Amino acid sequence: MDPHTKATQIAPFTAVPGPRHPAVPAQAPTGHITSTAERGSFCLAVCSCGWTGPARRSRDLARKDATRHGTEG
Ligand SMILES: [Zn+2]
Repeated sequence: MDPHTKATQIAPFTAVPGPRHPAVPAQAPTGHITSTAERGSFCLAVCSCGWTGPARRSRDLARKDATRHGTEG
């Protein structure tokens, strides 16, 4: 009774030289995409770049912050 381990045959990977997909991180084409987020009773502007505006009591002010950030960069 010998251990009859039969190795499963794996098809060898054929190295196919071809165009590789470039690992380009997805970036927002328009740069800053701003929106507003509510935090409790406050509202603040957030951007796709990671920027966040100051917490405002009104959504209108937060939206103005977002607009100003988007236009000024
Ligand atoms: Zn931004």
